[in-house]
Amino acid sequence: MKAYEQTLNLLKTLSLRGVASGLDEMINDAEVRKQSYITFLNTVFQAEISYRIKRRVERNMVGAHFPVLKKVDQFDFGRVKGIGKSEIVNLLDCHWIDNRENVLFFGPPGVGKTHLSIALGVNAVEKGYKVCFERVTNLIKLLKTAEIQKASEYRINRIIKADMIIIDEIGYTPIEKREANLFFSLVSETYEKASIVITSNKSFDSWAEMMGDTVMTSAMLDRLLHHARVFTLDGESYRITNQKKEV
Ligand code: ADP
Ligand code: MG
Repeated sequence: MKAYEQTLNLLKTLSLRGVASGLDEMINDAEVRKQSYITFLNTVFQAEISYRIKRRVERNMVGAHFPVLKKVDQFDFGRVKGIGKSEIVNLLDCHWIDNRENVLFFGPPGVGKTHLSIALGVNAVEKGYKVCFERVTNLIKLLKTAEIQKASEYRINRIIKADMIIIDEIGYTPIEKREANLFFSLVSETYEKASIVITSNKSFDSWAEMMGDTVMTSAMLDRLLHHARVFTLDGESYRITNQKKEV
């Protein structure tokens, strides 16, 4: 067997796909630049590491379950009150995730709460964090079925282990007391272990009514607000304004 084929086989056996995919180029490069053995080895190992990081980010992007991909630079800050571009740009360094801080977006429909939460999530995945996105209705469905459905249990385990959990659309549908308790348990369990990002069209005062339990709701808000940045957005709905333009 030729040495080159042997190398390819060895790479396959060791599952070094990053090296395998860039091998020809790295060898050519080393010959042209007359690299030392050690420089060449470093290039080879670095190629594998970069490949694995890229693959992990791709897997985490899929595993986050973002409904669509949104970016901060697609967001027009001039259209919404209650938040400045610099405040969001400051969050892109992800220190708040390292510190397990939460971010809460409040405001009427269409002002960009979901957009901004996804944009923060996508940025975090790109930087190597694990993120999970769920609408609260689906999250509750998962919590209710986790004991009887493997897929739900699997998803909940991933959510609990995530660095950042985005819970979208709290407030559109009432939550039964039992469901609210499951939700509360999740918030408790991930308290100071993960960053939680929440979007809601209802202010805190209405949460107790929505969840049917004042004591539990205030305990939950206590945890969510402990280390949190709260943004209360306002403005005309982007959806409606764009529709008007099209008409
Ligand atoms: P909310 O979650 O507050 O109801 P969304 O984030 O879902 O609103 O926004 C509705 C749509 O309008 C999305 O497609 C979003 O990308 C877009 N959008 C909202 N606000 C802005 C904005 N200020 N600049 C750019 N796009 C926006
Ligand atoms: Mg939304």
